[in-house]
Amino acid sequence: HAHHAMVQDESLRREVEKEIQDERVSAGSAVRTVFRRWERRFQAMDAEVSKQKGDDMRDLARRLVSSLAGVHAHALKDLPRGSVLVANRLLPSDTVFLARNMAAAALLEVGAKGSHAALFAREIGLPCVAGLPNLLESVTEESYVVVDADGAQAILNPSTPQRVSFREKTEKKKQSLEKARVRAHEPALTQDGVRISVFANVGDAEDTRVAIENGADGVGLYRLEQIYLSRQHPPSTAELLELIQETLQPAKGLPVYVRLLDVGADKPLPFIDMPREQNPSLGQRGVRFLLQYPDLLRTQLEALLTLPPNWDLRILVPMVTLPSDMQRVHTCLRDAASRIGTTAIPKLGAMIETPAAALSAADIAAHADFLSVGTNDLTQYAFAADRENASVDSYFDDMHKIIFRLLKTAHDEAPHLPLSVCGELAARVDATTKILQCGVTSLSVAPPSIPTVKEAVRKCGGR
Ligand code: PEP
Ligand code: MG
Repeated sequence: HAHHAMVQDESLRREVEKEIQDERVSAGSAVRTVFRRWERRFQAMDAEVSKQKGDDMRDLARRLVSSLAGVHAHALKDLPRGSVLVANRLLPSDTVFLARNMAAAALLEVGAKGSHAALFAREIGLPCVAGLPNLLESVTEESYVVVDADGAQAILNPSTPQRVSFREKTEKKKQSLEKARVRAHEPALTQDGVRISVFANVGDAEDTRVAIENGADGVGLYRLEQIYLSRQHPPSTAELLELIQETLQPAKGLPVYVRLLDVGADKPLPFIDMPREQNPSLGQRGVRFLLQYPDLLRTQLEALLTLPPNWDLRILVPMVTLPSDMQRVHTCLRDAASRIGTTAIPKLGAMIETPAAALSAADIAAHADFLSVGTNDLTQYAFAADRENASVDSYFDDMHKIIFRLLKTAHDEAPHLPLSVCGELAARVDATTKILQCGVTSLSVAPPSIPTVKEAVRKCGGR
């Protein structure tokens, strides 16, 4: 959808036409020149999200040029099943293609741990190791490579003992996955009988379907961004309600946590002329942004309040830093309810994603029914390391003891509130014990990780 919206852009179309008329070149050549110009423009911008739009332009140009030459198949069409894809980086349409055709693994020269491609690969269960510079120089189509994405490792042309030990490792992993799948639909109880809900992070209906198939106890984080980022106009309340219901339908009757739109200058909305900020991730994002654009907030709250009463809905507020952020959203929620004429107000929770919020969770808790820790942003802000920037990857460590200290502090500040973790940390099974020891009561992870996370909970000695 995003790509479709981009090629409809009037100024882009006019520039291509002008290139053909002025330079007397073929359509393919004009597309190449103009899209390359736009790619450079996007890449010169400060915000990481704008730089990624550069990737989209390159991707679109490649597909348009092939299409103009009469080639309609995707370049990866003939990738033999079970192959390892080695590429400089994954462009957005490649990732969509891979979702349907499942290579055995992907190795990328470029990419950070928190980057789009890495998150996407995890979401579809594709083992992926990124940040392997000059790899393309050393591999051929015939190369044999083993990929251990858990250990962020790839061995090119492994020795016989390396192959044997890798096979043993994969066999063991396969067995434990099969074992986990058998019990995926059972509740996850710790050794001393404490039930930990294992929810799913979803963005669309397919994610929710896979999540339920994998035994999810509900949806712990529905990111609304996908609905908004590819639109030229904001959705109406009715449209939004329909899209939300469509996405969550497979989880109807289970708890579903919908997060209010989490955008800002780092993820600009195409239909709002937003002020340019020097440091977008320290600027108006998440709840700060929503409070600046009350119409956007109102549409979301009204759509959620209109959801029929047989849904078990809770609302998550992104990037809360101050208690007043929650207080103000509460006021808007109550106003929206009285406009609609309902007294059934869903529970409202705060995303804890900044050190300030974790350290003052008691004050925030006075206005929240539950807390959910977004460890991706919490790590970015605690270490002052951009989660999308590969050059500071070594500073971005969500398993560091200070993250657990912040988690424990958030719990101790508000021990009476349910506490969830919905960042990538929640799926790291070697951290499950430590996470639960901090007082966490539920976890929300990518749909393919649910069975193994439930198994990891079962091995924990309680809290
Ligand atoms: C997080 O920051 O950990 C989180 C869950 O939110 P997102 O990854 O969407 O920023
Ligand atoms: Mg976040």
